[in-house]
Amino acid sequence: MGLGLTREAWRELVATWGHSKFRGDQVFEAVFRKGIGHASEISTLAHELRAKIDAEMPITPVPPAQVQVSTDGTRKYQFSDGAVGAYEAVYIPEVAAGRGTNTLCVSSQTGCAVGCKFCFTASIKRHRDLTAGEIIGQVLAVRADLLPQGPGAQITNIVFMGMGEPLLNFDNVVQACKVMLEPMGLSFSTRRITVSTSGIVPRIDDLGRAVNTQLAISLNATTDEIRTKIMPINKKWPIAELLGALRRYPLAPRRRFTIEYVLLKDINDSVEDAQRLAKLLDGIPVKINLLPLNAHNKTPFETPSRATVARFQEELRKRGYGAWLRTPRGQDIAAACGQLGEAVLPTVLQTLPAA
Ligand code: SAH
Ligand code: SF4
Repeated sequence: MGLGLTREAWRELVATWGHSKFRGDQVFEAVFRKGIGHASEISTLAHELRAKIDAEMPITPVPPAQVQVSTDGTRKYQFSDGAVGAYEAVYIPEVAAGRGTNTLCVSSQTGCAVGCKFCFTASIKRHRDLTAGEIIGQVLAVRADLLPQGPGAQITNIVFMGMGEPLLNFDNVVQACKVMLEPMGLSFSTRRITVSTSGIVPRIDDLGRAVNTQLAISLNATTDEIRTKIMPINKKWPIAELLGALRRYPLAPRRRFTIEYVLLKDINDSVEDAQRLAKLLDGIPVKINLLPLNAHNKTPFETPSRATVARFQEELRKRGYGAWLRTPRGQDIAAACGQLGEAVLPTVLQTLPAA
């Protein structure tokens, strides 16, 4: 799939096919500047080269099988490869709310092996990694869908907070980031791409070396006992190791990590938890996103009351932290954090081969 290639990779590729490297620039610009989805439509290229691209390195994004629009303007895109793989991307427009950011939340895998007890995606057992081309394809397909809405409907930020654990699909995620960063392509800056992880410690170190995007950590608890209960990955990389990875991460000046904290009623939402959280994060440049659980039928947990959430937030703010309450978006179409996969699950199950 050709969508996961950087400009330089296209230049090299067409050269191996006996064409001038400049033709590689033309392909790259056709895809990313002009939004062309078939090599046959790149009129500046020789027919033979167009045919070669279509046959060996196609540039057509997977079209969404379904687009759902929430009452709040959030759009959920479902993609399917017709086999085990179904995945989703969610476009969250915030321009109307005066924030000027329209975020696209992309998937990196078609399920997740990490098994967090509050996350719907964890219940999808059969899954695979998405290729860099499939990740970039989500961006291009959504961009094309938004085109009729005019210049206001533009993706300004990308977050890897869809289905899957991005750092367990490291190479493809890094490659997709590199393509997103290409100056004459999608042209995102590293400030506008956020990779979110449940805490794959060695890969956090690798990410710091490979590509300097923003980093979000799903912390979700303040003791190893509770974190292991709700995020089994904590057995392998407990809180101290995870925070150690943050402390040595080559964070650019004036940047902050995002700490995500899913609030679960009576599990991790007490005032003592907030105090412990403040202490744990002492000295690490962070902003904290509080996410009251988005309920679904695969989790035993409940959402805390507004008062509990407000108390938790206040406790952090008192201690000088920027702590933000993330209003769930697109809940009516199961597009909010932790709900992804719900609507595609029946399709996935139907297409699974009998065991
Ligand atoms: N696998 C990565 C990225 C995808 S999950 C990670 O875990 O970081 C994106 C965010 O949604 C994570 O911070 C996760 O903690 C949160 N989340 C998962 N299930 C949720 C739910 N049911 N309600 C609210 N947030 C949830
Ligand atoms: Fe996977 Fe993230 Fe869901 Fe945990 S929260 S199961 S890591 S997608």
